[in-house]
Amino acid sequence: MIYDLHTHSNASDGSLDPDELLALAAQNNVDVLSITDHDTVSAYDRLGARQQGTPLLIPGIELSTTWAGRGIHIVGLNIDPASSTLCRGIVEQQAARLKRARKIADRLTRLGIDNPFDAVCEMAGDAGIGRPHFARHLVATGVTKDTATAFRKYLGTGKAGDVRSGWAELSEVIRWIQAAGGEAVLAHPAKYKFTATKLRCLIKDFVNAGGTAIEVISGQQDSATTKKLADIATDFELAASTGSDFHHPELSWSAPGRFPALPDNIETVWTSWQS
Ligand code: AMP
Ligand code: MN
Ligand code: MN
Ligand code: MN
Repeated sequence: MIYDLHTHSNASDGSLDPDELLALAAQNNVDVLSITDHDTVSAYDRLGARQQGTPLLIPGIELSTTWAGRGIHIVGLNIDPASSTLCRGIVEQQAARLKRARKIADRLTRLGIDNPFDAVCEMAGDAGIGRPHFARHLVATGVTKDTATAFRKYLGTGKAGDVRSGWAELSEVIRWIQAAGGEAVLAHPAKYKFTATKLRCLIKDFVNAGGTAIEVISGQQDSATTKKLADIATDFELAASTGSDFHHPELSWSAPGRFPALPDNIETVWTSWQS
């Protein structure tokens, strides 16, 4: 069984609409899929009555939060997308996103770039504005040759466009997920590039706030990373989750359902769903 429990549609910073994402996941033999857009559940409104069939769709979200001054992502799985607590949280997060987009635009303008705010608003449309929209704009206007360079020079950790303020606290986003009947999963723990001590410190806070699972597999990753994360899951009694973090079909290394298998005998987040 392939469980891809972390993917993005064009309701946030992915490029496929939710129906196209479902079709691609089916083509890649995904059995269970969650669309986990950044700070929105609008993919589930767009899918309407098409939630039956293969792959089985588990409602999800990826919420942004700040911990120790760094952006941390928490995935909520098996949520009720109509939960009023979650929806109120989403409204706050989207307001923070818009405010942050203005700050990013101001900072880039101060670096001599033409103010990109109107262009990224248009590009994002109904989706919340994220740094990838700024990256695409920097490429489209010839400021950088590709989006990787845009992140490296302008938008990545510690750069001018890395505006982190405004997200809800870690404990608050976990509370929203729980209020929506879901489980909180620490997303892509290896991506933060923390030391082992700092990562354990984050996980302690995550567990104390009610987090119950961790992505042991996030897209293509080496076996040493998998072993390290599986050991952490066992030590902290966290269930393991898996996902591609798929955004764009042209990035073939992060296709839906394409990631290494979990180690044997590990407790998974979906064990509790089968009863
Ligand atoms: P935001 O939600 O605005 O904080 O943007 C975060 C998103 O930017 C992530 O979910 C990725 O889709 C994308 N991203 C982060 N780092 C990079 C990078 N180095 N290159 C390309 N995309 C990135
Ligand atoms: Mn993204
Ligand atoms: Mn993420
Ligand atoms: Mn993601």
